[in-house]
Amino acid sequence: MLSKEKLAFYRRKLEEEERAILKEIEEGKQKMDFGDDVDSFEEEADEAEEESTRLGIDAVLTDRLNHIRIALGKIQDGTYGTCAKCGSEIEEAILNVVPESDLCRACKAKEQKSSAK
Ligand SMILES: [Zn+2]
Repeated sequence: MLSKEKLAFYRRKLEEEERAILKEIEEGKQKMDFGDDVDSFEEEADEAEEESTRLGIDAVLTDRLNHIRIALGKIQDGTYGTCAKCGSEIEEAILNVVPESDLCRACKAKEQKSSAK
């Protein structure tokens, strides 16, 4: 079981990440809003390309944001740090790197193997 101190530590980490991602999404939107006043075709093409990359990044960011929010919810209801698949404790080494992770090392390895097919 994770101690109260550890839980508070991960919650801080998750909240910081949540803020950083929200900021990144917001900044991306602002960049797109300023993209209207182009004065050459070349620039316009570049921006269309940028926009599609941007949308891809947004999807990744939104996905991450969801995971972070789920993890924050788990901290609240006391199930944080437990593997969603097998129910065993998630190694702290994983939580330190990816605090929103909901799989233990063994299940994550299995999942990566099956999705690599
Ligand atoms: Zn597991």
